[in-house]
Amino acid sequence: MEIIIVKDTIEGGKKAFELIKAGMDQGAKVLGLATGSTPISLYHEMIKSDVDFSDMTALNLDEYVGLAPTDPQSYRYFMEEQLFSKKPFKETFVPNGKAKDAEQECERYDQIIEKHPIDIQILGIGSNAHIGFNEPGTSFDLTTHKVELLPSTIEANKRFFDHAEDVPRLAYSMGIKSIMKSEKIILMAYGETKAEAIKKAIEGPITQEVPASILQKHENVIIIVDEAAAKLIKR
Ligand code: PGA
Repeated sequence: MEIIIVKDTIEGGKKAFELIKAGMDQGAKVLGLATGSTPISLYHEMIKSDVDFSDMTALNLDEYVGLAPTDPQSYRYFMEEQLFSKKPFKETFVPNGKAKDAEQECERYDQIIEKHPIDIQILGIGSNAHIGFNEPGTSFDLTTHKVELLPSTIEANKRFFDHAEDVPRLAYSMGIKSIMKSEKIILMAYGETKAEAIKKAIEGPITQEVPASILQKHENVIIIVDEAAAKLIKR
C-alpha cells in the first residue's frame, strides 16, 4: 500500500486525478467510481480539466434500493449532477435501485463488471470501514449483493436527507470480491471521523469486521488521506 498524505480534499482530488490521468495514458478504459462527499473534489478536477472521457466506461459501486435514477437522493442522480452531465463518458453504469427482482439485478451488474474489468477503482471509506456498501461482517467472497445498511451508515448518511427515517435501509453494492479484481485501487479519506477506520484498514488484522482491511492483500492500492484521517497511523 502506498500512503499519500495531503493538505486537504482539494489537494487529494488533484492527486487522485493525476493518478487517473497516468492510468489513462497507460491504457486504462474503465473507472470504478464512488459517491459520497469524498470523491467530489476529484470530480471537480475531472470536470475542469480538458481530459476527454468519451472513450471511457464508468461503473459505480452502489445504489439505494427503491430509489429511481431521477430521485435526487439516488446515486445515479448524484453521479449525473457531480460528473456525468458535465463530463461525458462512453457508458456509465450504476445498479438500478428500481429493479423488480433483486437477484436478477445483482446478476446483471456482475455481468457488467465482468464485461468491463475495472482498471482503476475509486473508493471512499465509511467511519465503520465499509467500502462501497460492504458493511462490517460482509463476506470477502461476495460479488454484487443486496445489503441491509447498518445504523452507523444510516447515521453517517442522514446528512444528505431531510430526516434520518428517509435514508433507505437497503442498497445494492458491488462486492469485495469484484472490488479486489480492480487493477488499481485509489482510496481517499478526509477528516478525523475516518482516522480510526484508516488505522484499522492499514495496520489492523485483515478481518471481515473491517471491510477495508482486505485492501492490504491487493498489490496496487494507493491511499490518499489528509492529516486528520492519517492521525492514528504510524509514520
Ligand atoms: P463520504 O462516505 O465520502 O460521504 O464520507 C464515504 C463512504 O461511506 O464510503
